[in-house]
Amino acid sequence: MKTLKDFNFQDKRALIRVDFNVPLNENFEVTDATRIVSAKPTIIKILEDGGSCVLMSHLGRPKGVQAEFSLKHIITKIEDVLGVEVKFAENCVGEEAEAMANALQPGEILLLENLRFHEEEKQGNLEFAEKLSKLGDIYVNDAFGTAHRAHASTTIVAQFFPEAKCFGHLLAKEIESIKKVLEDGEKPVLAILGGAKVSSKITVIENILDKVDHLIIGGGMTFTFVKAQGGSVGESICEDDKMELALDILKQAEAKGVKIHLPVDVVAANSFSNDADTQVVDVKSIPDGWQGLDAGPRSLENFDSVVNQSKTILWNGPLGVFEMETFSKGTIALGNSIAKSTKGGAFSLVGGGDSVAAVKQFGFENKVSYVSTGGGAMLESLEGKTLPGIAAILN
Ligand code: AMP
Repeated sequence: MKTLKDFNFQDKRALIRVDFNVPLNENFEVTDATRIVSAKPTIIKILEDGGSCVLMSHLGRPKGVQAEFSLKHIITKIEDVLGVEVKFAENCVGEEAEAMANALQPGEILLLENLRFHEEEKQGNLEFAEKLSKLGDIYVNDAFGTAHRAHASTTIVAQFFPEAKCFGHLLAKEIESIKKVLEDGEKPVLAILGGAKVSSKITVIENILDKVDHLIIGGGMTFTFVKAQGGSVGESICEDDKMELALDILKQAEAKGVKIHLPVDVVAANSFSNDADTQVVDVKSIPDGWQGLDAGPRSLENFDSVVNQSKTILWNGPLGVFEMETFSKGTIALGNSIAKSTKGGAFSLVGGGDSVAAVKQFGFENKVSYVSTGGGAMLESLEGKTLPGIAAILN
């Protein structure tokens, strides 16, 4: 696996695919610069080597050229984060971009306009990728968030750099973290899967059953399992058409020696609202008209003890509707358990959309070993897929 360490960037232009798809407010100001901060170590290492950087990214989902999706809006934030002046090419390909890239001096940075202003980017168009390839001597992919897409800048462009392509620090760290959990994890290995639906996590569950010793299933997924086993789930979210599948997962887990832990009690509410009346009930006897929206105290005690015993922990998906304070306690308690176990030496990886949001919201970000920067990319990795952006560097 080639990383930045395998290259000396002195007098070289690095063409770096970064993920600067950052959120902007109505004044086009960056409201969360995490993705820019995450790319900093790669950029700084190249500049310190005496190289220059050509940064390429998408922003949002433009249809053709749309000013509101211009990467111009984020130049000042990038300059703030890196402490280096950033030049800007109004088009990510073409003569002007090539002239600017050619004129770069060691220590300089050029940012290209939004890749997705060209539909060829998402199409993975070969000629477009070739045009991009003219802008650098070494291709560096540091964008985990788009590594599951075979787009021109994330995958196709790599073939124009057969000997001169590598992973940036961020992408290398993502790959190592996933490997540390799914392949080299110190036992016992625990996966915690929460979130809304069995259907969106099924491939993940099936893949990780071969890799883990314990599996905690929480969140809305719980009720499909409980109902399939004959419990009453009231108005709780439940996928009736996935009950067979749930039973099959339980069977597979037993055959593979994986211990499954489901909530035994839940915080039930009489409506899907922060101000609903609530009661703690047995997970198998939720009254009609009530729905389970968070894990209950006995469940949390059980989960805490499983987390405490584990040496490797993967967490994807909240235990309850954490967006509402009333139903956030389970997710917070689980975060605390994972933080405690991490402090005691366990390796913990948090990944995939909503659990990352929860970890940030409740301040656990620095108390776990690694928080992944990719939602879809993380899920596809957990499903056991080889991501095209990663394969393009490896092959
Ligand atoms: P996912 O994107 O599949 O990880 O799902 C995350 C969403 O699951 C969050 O928005 C949570 O509010 C939701 N969720 C978690 N627990 C429940 C539950 N018991 N009932 C309904 N939604 C839930």
